[in-house]
Parts: sequence; structure tokens; C-alpha cells
Amino acid sequence: MNEKFSAALAGAIKRPLLADFHTHTAYCDGKHSPEEMVQAAIEKGLTSLGICTHSPMPFYESYTIVEGEIAAFQAEINALKQKYGNKIALFCGMEKDVYSQTPIAGFDYVIGSAHYLKKDNVYCAVDLSPAAFQEGVLRMFGGDYYAAAENYYEALATAVQKTDADIIGHFDLITKFNEGCSLFDVTHPRYVAAWKRAADALLATGKVFEINTGAISRGWRTAPYPATEIVDYLQKNGAKLIASSDSHSKENIAYAYALTEQYFLKP
Ligand SMILES: [Zn+2]
Ligand SMILES: [Zn+2]
Repeated sequence: MNEKFSAALAGAIKRPLLADFHTHTAYCDGKHSPEEMVQAAIEKGLTSLGICTHSPMPFYESYTIVEGEIAAFQAEINALKQKYGNKIALFCGMEKDVYSQTPIAGFDYVIGSAHYLKKDNVYCAVDLSPAAFQEGVLRMFGGDYYAAAENYYEALATAVQKTDADIIGHFDLITKFNEGCSLFDVTHPRYVAAWKRAADALLATGKVFEINTGAISRGWRTAPYPATEIVDYLQKNGAKLIASSDSHSKENIAYAYALTEQYFLKP
């Protein structure tokens, strides 16, 4: 994390609704160019914008940036910093998966995220589709969602250590397709123990957690990540929080930020 980003992140912790550090462009699986994202963020009145890319994985994934395009991505964001610097503070980020090996050189900041279950060198993305997730839990864990959650949170617990993250991404992404506890019970003791172990490990790093509205804009959830009980636990234990949209289009920058406000109004 460079000094400028460190100052912007501190500003976002104080005034979370004016910043969005988790957005994606057509360099990975987003819809719009970096410049279109910048213009939309200025129109929405944001004072800081972070444009990220998904880190490449050790295997092919269509949603990540191609390794060979990282330099061009960074150069494009740096040019936009010059062009729009008087209107918005702009940053170039990598959303790095805990299982990615891609170096973070040249990025202003890192969001550390867990997207996969991994067992015996087999991966299953938890956020691709309900069918792929259910099939993966069945194949890898015999349908035991609590074993899957333990696997997921064990990986997430290493996010800062593995990715050098400044921000911890969508803490309970594993609940993306679990609206109304349709797949597993989030009050189950094994589930609660699993997320608490990850929360404790990550709280000890002092890094920032995001309140992420991405699954709301994509129609999978009605509330941001993480679940209220997790945010409460994080806040009680001194976590610093920011809002982010995880937007993959210019329209969704700072999406549904009103739903995150309750967490920032707490004394
Ligand atoms: Zn992510
Ligand atoms: Zn993302």
C-alpha cells in the first residue's frame, strides 16, 4: 500500500459513502473501461475510486485479467490519475485470491479474497453459480456444507498473510447462494465457529474489512456481505470498515450504499 492510498483508506473509514475501492472493468469480467468507471464515479460524487482486477489463478479462469495485460492495466489507470486527478483520487488495485501466485508489484493496494473451496488440489468456486457450488460441496465434502464452510474460512483466515491485503474482501462470500439459509444454517455451531476463527485471525492483522453490496446488485442477496452478526462481531472487536460495491459495471458503483450506512452510524 502506498502513502496516498493509505491516506485515502483512512478517509474512507471516516466517510465510507464517498469511496469505492472494489470495482472491476473489462480487463477482467467487468463491462466498462476504466475511464467509463472514473467518469461514473465522478458523476456519483465519490471522492476516491479504486479500480481493481481479479488476480490470475494457477489455472485458467475467464473472470481474471490475463497475466500479460497487467502492465497495460496499471499504465491505463496511471494515465487516468493524471487526467482526472483534480476531480477524484484514483487508485489501481488487485483483488488477489488467497490461492493466486501473481505478484502485487505496481498496484496501489490489494483486496485479499477467498473465492474457492480447495481439497486434494481440486478447486470449486463458491460464487460462480448455485449449481456449481452445490455440485462442488457434494463432490468434495459429501454434501457437508459445514465442512465446506470450515474449508472456506480456513483459507480466508490466511488472506492477509497470503496476499498482503490492505482490505479483506467479501468476508462471507460462501453465503452468496444461501439467501434464507436455503443450503445451510448460518446459526449452526460449526458454521459460527468457522467464521469466528477466520474473523479472529484477520482482526489480529488490523486490516480493513469491507461491507460489500456486490451480491445485491447481482440479485443474489438482499443484504451486504458480511451478515449483520459478523459485522457486529467485527465491530465489537475493533475492526475498521469501509463500504464497497464490487461493481462490474459503471451503473453499480457505490451500489445500495444506503444499506451499509447502519454500520457506520453506530457509536
Ligand atoms: Zn471477489
Ligand atoms: Zn471483486
